[in-house]
Amino acid sequence: MNDEELFVLLLEASCFSQEESIYIYENFKNFRGSMAEFVEQKLSNKCQTPFLFSTLKKFATAYDDLSIRKSIESVADRNCNSIKGDLHIHTNWSDGNDSVEEIVETAKTMGYQYIAITDHSLVAKGKVEMNEEKFMRQIKKINDVQKFYDIKIIKGIEIDINIDNSLDYSDEIIKNADLVIGSVHFDYGYGEAKAFKLLEELLKNEWIDIIAHPLNEIGKELFLGNYEKILYLTEQNHKILEINLSPNRIEEDDFLVKIFNDSNIMFSFGTDSHTKKQMKFMNFSNLWNISRDRILNYYDEPLKILNRRRQMIL
Ligand SMILES: [Zn+2]
Ligand SMILES: [Zn+2]
Repeated sequence: MNDEELFVLLLEASCFSQEESIYIYENFKNFRGSMAEFVEQKLSNKCQTPFLFSTLKKFATAYDDLSIRKSIESVADRNCNSIKGDLHIHTNWSDGNDSVEEIVETAKTMGYQYIAITDHSLVAKGKVEMNEEKFMRQIKKINDVQKFYDIKIIKGIEIDINIDNSLDYSDEIIKNADLVIGSVHFDYGYGEAKAFKLLEELLKNEWIDIIAHPLNEIGKELFLGNYEKILYLTEQNHKILEINLSPNRIEEDDFLVKIFNDSNIMFSFGTDSHTKKQMKFMNFSNLWNISRDRILNYYDEPLKILNRRRQMIL
């Protein structure tokens, strides 16, 4: 994949049509500045939503970093046929763009055996408002959609941890999820040290299967300084760490894979897609050479692995 193809992919992943994306690249070629500057100056009112605009700005930071760009381009065309499914996807039930059906259709074209729908909870923050009642409705919806597809739809949730270490949903509700991804999205104004405390709590929480983007809100230095502790909590509590394939997180992923290289910690790949086109980011999983038995997405039945790990905790 060359610069143009990557640029076009990032625009398409942000809901521009292919035609528009190619046209925009022609303009970008004559622009004196970075992609981030170009997006800021030229595309702010062209994106469908402010959220897609902010996503595109993040993607642009990856494009502007020459070494990340070249790494991505070197693997983006390779297939990832041995991957059995994507384990982190959002739909229009939270802040994603597409419906459950559109995501499942895309997964079918990718040849997956399963996908996980993992919309945001974010109840306390009023940002996305997938409250408990809505989550239960989504489960019912997924059960209905499942009847029409062979591909297994895993009923997941990307749940937030609150300032008091509680999760957004009660035990009664959360137990209905097949897969629980825990995320630190906020430091609640208390900085990195608080974010790190919240990560520790997620690692200890019995409901959590996978920690999404483990470095979020926590700098590499603090993370590295607490390496032994994180390793211990992850192993002890049988947690899986996510390699989040959003382009702007590739550098973080690299760091994560390197520091846990010699451990037996399991990883999962998630595109964290908020549009169906972002599901293509799964090809970036080719960036790392990790033994397949340590990656959840290579297993035919990930839920069996998760259940086994849950039983080890309880
Ligand atoms: Zn997240
Ligand atoms: Zn997410």
